[in-house]
Amino acid sequence: MSRGRLFIISGPSGSGKDTLMTELFKMRPELKFSISSITRDIRENEKPGEKYNFITREQFERMIDNDQLLEYNVFVGNYYGTPKAPVLAAIENGDDIIVEVDVNGAAQIREKMPESTSVFILPPSFEVLKSRLQKRGTESDDKIKARLECALGEIARAGEYDYVIVNDDLQKAVNELSDIIRLDRLKSDRNQILINSILEKER
Ligand code: ADP
Ligand code: 5GP
Repeated sequence: MSRGRLFIISGPSGSGKDTLMTELFKMRPELKFSISSITRDIRENEKPGEKYNFITREQFERMIDNDQLLEYNVFVGNYYGTPKAPVLAAIENGDDIIVEVDVNGAAQIREKMPESTSVFILPPSFEVLKSRLQKRGTESDDKIKARLECALGEIARAGEYDYVIVNDDLQKAVNELSDIIRLDRLKSDRNQILINSILEKER
């Protein structure tokens, strides 16, 4: 069995990562998702253990000390990190897994796992990003301002990614994301076991 693949998804807050992924998992229910551990306050519409495990700073720092994180970062004053064990287990098990991380987290993962595939979600414009964050209504004006301040620095690093998707028309963007996963599965290194088995039978 070939190993699963790691897909990294990043994009500024409000670019539509969650919306896109909800649609992607409907199309590709076989994909696994890495649940991050984070220290920010839970939002009204969030369920613990769905996208995030909400933990204290002390618990998070213990995970750092015990080397239990594949990557982590501080974003607008809170820790966000990817627990290592579930990601490695999925890959070993042959499952493809998606991690959603910020640009710093993505750089850390790329360094450790250069075979991963990374995708940056871009809003059609900064104005649209601002209005989506305001319409979502999950953060105070101050917190929206802090997220928009981070956004430009994140967008400036979009070139570090293998792919960029503009999330303007939602269905088009979801199809593009799904296509990236489909084509990744056709890569020669993912089919090496089959290639070898055909050759071995005829030797
Ligand atoms: P992120 O996870 O990147 O922070 P969200 O998925 O929460 O972003 O999207 C931010 C807001 O933008 C949400 O209110 C969502 O409904 C809206 N949104 C996402 N994608 C689109 C799109 N293609 N067109 C219009 N609105 C969108
Ligand atoms: P939010 O608070 O809007 O859910 O997420 C804020 C930012 O943290 C987003 O850019 C999101 O991609 C990023 N993020 C979510 N989970 C992780 C994680 O596990 N590690 C890192 N480094 N960033 C994360």
